[in-house]
Amino acid sequence: MEHITGYKCKDCGAGPFLMPTMACQKCHSQNLEEVALSGNGKIHTFTIVHAAFGSLKEKAPYALCIVELQEGPRLLTIVEDVNVETLKVEHPVRLKYFNEEKIPIFQGA
Ligand SMILES: [Zn+2]
Repeated sequence: MEHITGYKCKDCGAGPFLMPTMACQKCHSQNLEEVALSGNGKIHTFTIVHAAFGSLKEKAPYALCIVELQEGPRLLTIVEDVNVETLKVEHPVRLKYFNEEKIPIFQGA
């Protein structure tokens, strides 16, 4: 089962952070350890994209969201399998798969 990898600071305990980060965002230590994140979260904010281009064209309309993971970090992603007419912030989501660019794509939970 694939999971999202986060990085926790072994010096001050801050995190988890998502890549790209080479150092702790709090104390700038490079003494980071990998942690597996749950892949569960909720929608922090979103926009519905009606006119898309390229590989996303056939997905439109789709929900482009900032997802806040249970562990704290936020990421910009797409949430699939939700009703774009009735979607609201705080909607629970979970990891669905990683796309070709290794971006985690979510689905409604
Ligand atoms: Zn630190």
